Order: sequence, then C-alpha cells, then structure tokens
Amino acid sequence: MATEEDRTVDLPGDTRLNVASLLMEPVGAIRDIVIEIESLPLDVDLVARNVTAKARLTRLKDAILVTADVAAIVPLECAICLAAYNQPIAERFSEPIRQLVDVRTGAELPNTVDATDDVAESEPGFTIGDNHELDLGEALRQWIVLAIPMQPSCGPDCPGPLLRSTDQEDEFDHRFASLASLLDDDEPGNDKS
Ligand SMILES: [Zn+2]
Repeated sequence: MATEEDRTVDLPGDTRLNVASLLMEPVGAIRDIVIEIESLPLDVDLVARNVTAKARLTRLKDAILVTADVAAIVPLECAICLAAYNQPIAERFSEPIRQLVDVRTGAELPNTVDATDDVAESEPGFTIGDNHELDLGEALRQWIVLAIPMQPSCGPDCPGPLLRSTDQEDEFDHRFASLASLLDDDEPGNDKS
C-alpha cells in the first residue's frame, strides 16, 4: 500500500531530479520531493546553510509547477550592532518550470508563452532541461535571496548601535533648526541694498 511517505523522493546533497516519468503522466499528477543541502552559494560572500526544501511538483500543460517550503540559515551581519548572526529563513514559494521538449518524441514544444499567458509573463523563467532534468538549484538560490530581510537584525537582544550617533544627530538637528529660523526671520520684506 502506497503511503504519502512512499511517494516522497529524497534528494540529499542534490537539487536535480529527472522528471521524465512525471512528464508522461496527465496534467494534475504530482510528486513530492525533499531537497537537503548543507551549503548553497547565494552571492559573493553570501552562503545559505542547512537548506531544506519540501516541494510538491504538479504536472501542468507544458510545465511543472513547483510549490516549495524552503528553510535555511543565512549568516548575516546585523545592520544595527554589526555583529555576525544566523538569520533563519522559512518561506513558501511557487514557480512554474517550463517544459521545452516533448518527453516521448524529444521534439521541441511550440513556445506557448505570450503576453496573455499570466503564468510565464514576460520573463523566460526556469525551464526543464533537454534531458528532462529539473534543477531547482538556481530557483532555490533566488528564493532564499528574496527572503533575506532588507534590514538584517540579530534579534530582540540586539545591543543597539555601537556609536552614540543619535546624540550627534540631535545636536545637528538643533543647530540646523536655529539656522532655519534665522533664515526665516531674514526672508520677509528685507531691503536689498
Ligand atoms: Zn544587532
């Protein structure tokens, strides 16, 4: 008897999966996969660690829809105290991966992407390789980068800024305000000699 667990394919250390058999199945067929990789380079000096993606692949017409719960740890620098810390990432993503060749004949599929296709939009997006291999490495990289906070913060225990920059700002604001009022005073109806 097949259970949910039996259908899940584990891909330890790899982001690639041959989807030829899924492409043979009718629209709506699914596969569940689990990707686990220790380290995934995101950018220069930026690496995700302990990356786990529990993904469901759904056969669409000319594509496979990947819906994935992605979890990872990204070592970042706190924007406030500048300390290094581990930022947990946990997000759900969904993305259609386009099929380019017919799995039975190997013939190129007509490009059905046009302006009215709201799945593919204007970008070419991700595609399944000629060998029917689905590589989620680049999708994972982009998803995790998207999930990184714009202002990294080490958390509620952040000691705060190292420099007492707020005091300096207050002083600057005060002087600027004085200057501004001075200008205001001079402005109306002054004689121009
Ligand atoms: Zn901090």
